[in-house]
Amino acid sequence: MTEPIDTLGRPLRDLRVSVTDRCNFRCTYCMPREVFGRDYQFLERSLLLTFEEITRVVRLAAGLGVTKVRLTGGEPLLRKGLPDLVAMLAVVEGIDDLTLTTNGSLLARDAVALASAGLRRVSVSLDSLDDATFMAMNDAGFPASKVLEGIDAAAAAGLGPIKINMVVKRGVNDGDVVAMAERFRGTGHIVRFIEYMDVGTSNGWRLDDVVPAAEVLAAISKRFPLDPIAPNYPGEVANRYRYRDGGGEIGVIASVTRPFCGSCTRARLSAEGSLYTCLFATSGHDLRARLRAGATDDDILDTLRSIWTRRGDRYSEIRSEATAGWQKVEMSYIGG
Ligand code: SF4
Repeated sequence: MTEPIDTLGRPLRDLRVSVTDRCNFRCTYCMPREVFGRDYQFLERSLLLTFEEITRVVRLAAGLGVTKVRLTGGEPLLRKGLPDLVAMLAVVEGIDDLTLTTNGSLLARDAVALASAGLRRVSVSLDSLDDATFMAMNDAGFPASKVLEGIDAAAAAGLGPIKINMVVKRGVNDGDVVAMAERFRGTGHIVRFIEYMDVGTSNGWRLDDVVPAAEVLAAISKRFPLDPIAPNYPGEVANRYRYRDGGGEIGVIASVTRPFCGSCTRARLSAEGSLYTCLFATSGHDLRARLRAGATDDDILDTLRSIWTRRGDRYSEIRSEATAGWQKVEMSYIGG
């Protein structure tokens, strides 16, 4: 089957699957409580794709070139029975990388079940080791120690090396960057420092609050000299660096100062079955209606192919005053 190529010459390789729009955190850069408060209407269960529907989309997408699936949310571990979905996806032909992004709050509980079901790796968000800062950022009073327990449980369950994602915001946790690097040096785990992004429309993003990757690297390098290393594969989002003294590796994800749209091979499936071709998209393509209207595999394949071949997204390259007013989809709805 010929693999679809988008208008900028990019294949489809990486499908991010959101399994819920709910989360038990209210991270200020993603799901601020002022917007996602007590009265916020989350998706009803009947609107969510079933595990069978998700698996069908993944199976068909694998036929078009997808080799990597990342489960996301909201917080994916809130979706009941998630290990069952993992077991279904782990046997889909062509998917050789099945991973998950979590805030780590429930990882100690679920790590063994996820690994036994066939999950290969896990990425854990942890924005500070300092409890006061971390709790201020997750706005759910959740301590860093519990996330660290989850990381240890995931490593013990064989889901390592763990990627630890730290979103760096000026004046909030930028002072914790070196401590975070030091904490995971020599552990085999990989910290990725993420530039704060203007995802969605609710986090009040300002360019002044972005700490450029170069600044993060300079701060760490001053203490622990670093050398750049080659990407693991084309389209990898992180720029990789290794500690000169053999202390391991870190990464930076610099969507603002070093856009990587040129090699972006990612699509995102929302929990209710809409396909988005960019993290900063303003609209998606409803697959659920077709799935539930009895569309054949060929119909769905044609739909996926036509969506991808018309894709021209490169938001991070065109981010400017002109894009500031875009009504972008919320990251908590389609996953990071
Ligand atoms: S901004 Fe959109 S097109 Fe660019 S790398 Fe991110 S998801 Fe891909």
